[in-house]
Amino acid sequence: NSNYQKKPEWLKVKIQNPKNLSHVNTLIQSLNLNTVCHGANCPNRLECFSKSTATFMILGSICSRHCRFCNIESGKLLPPDIGEPYRVATAVKELGLKHAVITSVTRDDLEDGGAQMFAQTIIAIREASPDTTIEVLIPDFKGSFDALKTVMDAKPHIINHNVETVNRLYADIRPEADYTQSLELLASVKAYDESIFSKSGFMLGLGEEEEEVLKLIEDLRAVSVDILTIGQYLPPSDAHAPLISYITPEKFTEYGKYAQSIGISSVASSPLVRSSYNAKEVFDEKNTN
Ligand code: SF4
Ligand code: SF4
Repeated sequence: NSNYQKKPEWLKVKIQNPKNLSHVNTLIQSLNLNTVCHGANCPNRLECFSKSTATFMILGSICSRHCRFCNIESGKLLPPDIGEPYRVATAVKELGLKHAVITSVTRDDLEDGGAQMFAQTIIAIREASPDTTIEVLIPDFKGSFDALKTVMDAKPHIINHNVETVNRLYADIRPEADYTQSLELLASVKAYDESIFSKSGFMLGLGEEEEEVLKLIEDLRAVSVDILTIGQYLPPSDAHAPLISYITPEKFTEYGKYAQSIGISSVASSPLVRSSYNAKEVFDEKNTN
């Protein structure tokens, strides 16, 4: 089984400051919140939590879609919890986050896809912590511009929407998503509000070919993406899409340099990069450019 390929040294992570880690865990549990850090079994949890960073996941812990790389459960969807935006804002304040990342499961069952809950969460965080920069990692809202506009009108600093993989692999890996629709969403962000940074990311190791990766980077440049993240896919279990290859750090650097050479100014490309990894540092770098 390819999932049992030996993990290379560059993917092993160090433990730092476990005291902060338990503080973050306790606070998140006591406020009855979900984080993508737990839900997606992210390998950077120890590092991010020890730096008091976390990515909050609103609209429940059950997704209406079934992407084959993802560890989020599917099942019975619950109605949105109207107190959630305020509890997220409380957590952001208590943790003293300078940069908050908010994402959600995909809620194809809701008329607005949960856009209103994103907007309320952005507004609640800004009220409680006016100096905190806010990044939202949004679903595709099935291509609804109205839903996207609801989020954009709440003025987050960054709108992130991950393309996740190359066009050819969508049918297999993200059967309910649409590559072109995702690119159009990213184009709409810049067309509607120049002041919001747009961000996207994808994983390597799912069986993509090099020329497909270069085309993906070019497609993201063509829709004026400001910030790009590229990381190694790690299957959450044997039931998920298999790992086809470990990509070397040198190859990640090469792709990152290519993205910069064609005009994507802010790029984080290395095996452990996740969409929200070092999100604050990436934002600061972009903001001072
Ligand atoms: Fe959480 Fe993102 Fe850090 Fe992973 S990289 S632990 S998802 S904040
Ligand atoms: Fe996971 Fe997002 Fe796919 Fe849902 S839509 S299964 S949360 S990647």
